[in-house]
Amino acid sequence: MKIFISADMEGISGIVHSEQTDATHSEYARGRKLMTAEVNAAIQGAFDAGATEVLVNDAHGGMRNILIEELHPDAALLSGATKPFSMMAGIDRTFDAVFFLGYHARAGSSFATLDHTWNSLTVVQNIWINGVEMGETGLNAALAGYFGVPVVLVTGDATTCMQARELLGADVETVAVKEALGRAAAKNLPPSKAHTLIREAAARAVANCKARAPFCFESPITLRLALARTSQADRCLWMPGVKRVAPRVVEFTHEDYAVLYNAFRALMVLADVQV
Ligand code: ZN
Repeated sequence: MKIFISADMEGISGIVHSEQTDATHSEYARGRKLMTAEVNAAIQGAFDAGATEVLVNDAHGGMRNILIEELHPDAALLSGATKPFSMMAGIDRTFDAVFFLGYHARAGSSFATLDHTWNSLTVVQNIWINGVEMGETGLNAALAGYFGVPVVLVTGDATTCMQARELLGADVETVAVKEALGRAAAKNLPPSKAHTLIREAAARAVANCKARAPFCFESPITLRLALARTSQADRCLWMPGVKRVAPRVVEFTHEDYAVLYNAFRALMVLADVQV
């Protein structure tokens, strides 16, 4: 049984401020240790329940956060960027289940540690797909679904977990490792407690993974992007097929979700470029 892990950083217990997830700050060294340890707890849980192979995709920032020298010896690590499918690099039809670890709530969420979607809040205000508001959990779950693979475990703060259950179904395994009091303050579980809960949830999630359906959108699929500034929408129009539906809102429609996912990545770059 093959398990794919996409690991982000903002949703790790103990991380409450962007200085802890930013390689240019001294606190980052602690952040990456905390991240690696939570990922290891989930890997161990997967193996406890019969997984035979675990691939971890480092999915935060420059994607060189996880300390390979401390990684569980039976897992493999995709490290670095840029890579095809970004936060979901490495996913394909051969996997049985997906974990999202250290994830965060979508842009515009209250009581959510470092809420955002993809680019900083200076680019994306909201994203909808076929009318459903999406964060990274939804965007990436739909790509797993495109390959026929269900998301079975999501960890992060309580708001992230609530959004995951709303989107993927109330029975998806979630572990809330912290409760946000604001965007940069949270009540955190100590790592040892978080690791126990994650390991147990990962084992349950793998044991029950056959019962979970992949998360998919019906074709045609429409991505709607609300940007922070009109100049960002101006540049999104450079991409063929993109329509402006309001001064700061653009849409792109395609029948193939993988094409849409790549178009979204391209639009994020276009919107953010300085000209
Ligand atoms: Zn991140």
